[in-house]
Amino acid sequence: MKAIVFSARKDEKSYLIDAFEASGHEVMFEEVHLNRKTAELAAGFDAVVVFVNDQLDESCLERLAELSVKTVALRCAGYNNVNLDAAKRLGLSVVRVPAYSPYAVAEHALTLLMTLNRHVHKAYNRVREGNFLLDGLVGRDIHRKTVGVVGTGNIGSVFCQIMRGFDCRLLAYDPNPSQDLIEQGVEYVELDSLLEQSDFISLHCPLTAQTHHLISERALALMKPKAMLINTSRGGLVDTKAVINALKQGGLSGLAIDVYEEEADLFFEDQSNRVIADDDLMRLMTFPNVIVTGHQAFLTEEALTNIAQTTANNLTCLEQNASCENQLV
Ligand code: NAD
Repeated sequence: MKAIVFSARKDEKSYLIDAFEASGHEVMFEEVHLNRKTAELAAGFDAVVVFVNDQLDESCLERLAELSVKTVALRCAGYNNVNLDAAKRLGLSVVRVPAYSPYAVAEHALTLLMTLNRHVHKAYNRVREGNFLLDGLVGRDIHRKTVGVVGTGNIGSVFCQIMRGFDCRLLAYDPNPSQDLIEQGVEYVELDSLLEQSDFISLHCPLTAQTHHLISERALALMKPKAMLINTSRGGLVDTKAVINALKQGGLSGLAIDVYEEEADLFFEDQSNRVIADDDLMRLMTFPNVIVTGHQAFLTEEALTNIAQTTANNLTCLEQNASCENQLV
């Protein structure tokens, strides 16, 4: 197949080139995001290879279909940015990479939790300036604390297993509880109960109409003032304005996010010479107890290799008219 990769990043190109060449697919790279306006760039290609911030709404998909594109290959797990009903109506196949390394994301969630809890982000800067004071660096043992995990699929279940190593009490909320995790001692509870009891809360559910702003003003009010919230899932799970208010009022002791609800026009690009107009993100970054990383939770060598290989295999499956287990429509 002839494929065009949108939102292409330097860090992933060599992995994609290796996997596509090995599978006999032609590949070209575009740094711009795919949306209705940039869809023209897909003319002459069989497949578009897209990522989390490409906008495959109905009008973009209609233009792709007019240009005779046949396949949308997501090189990620989440697909909230693709209108699947429209794709189906237009006869476009949509494939994704359901799991490439749950360890990469779960380990990044742990990294954020530990950095926030022990103030490593502050200590790093302080020590580099020759300030070895310990004021403000007091953390809490994670050992035997209560950890709330929202969504216990691939990533959430790895996160649970990691936290068991700290001897934590694990509470989970998921409409599809995992028998394996129950046998390992994870307690499934209602969301409110998880919010009320947890010292650390980590989000690992998909962004859907039901989970949009799952962490709302109401949810934040239920949480312990000493609780810390980690979001490596999707930005839209958290109501940013509500979380800013909770932080201002001392209703939340820390927030670490790898994803942000308005990240689409900001993340994966160098904005250091521009004025960032997003006041909510800039406000968040003024808090000493907030850590933001730019959607890098997945970024390990193993994950990049798996993403590239699975994407190339997905295209091969469709080309050979074979059933593709990673096909959404
Ligand atoms: P998964 O499909 O394996 O698991 C998702 C789980 O969430 C399922 O068990 C599902 O039952 C549960 N769920 C669905 N609706 C829910 C709800 N309303 N409340 C609670 N749980 C609910 O997905 P995964 O591979 O574990 O990935 C989870 C999410 O992580 C993805 O949707 C994606 O948004 C995000 N992600 C982020 C990165 C990153 O780099 N930051 C990378 C990969 C995935």
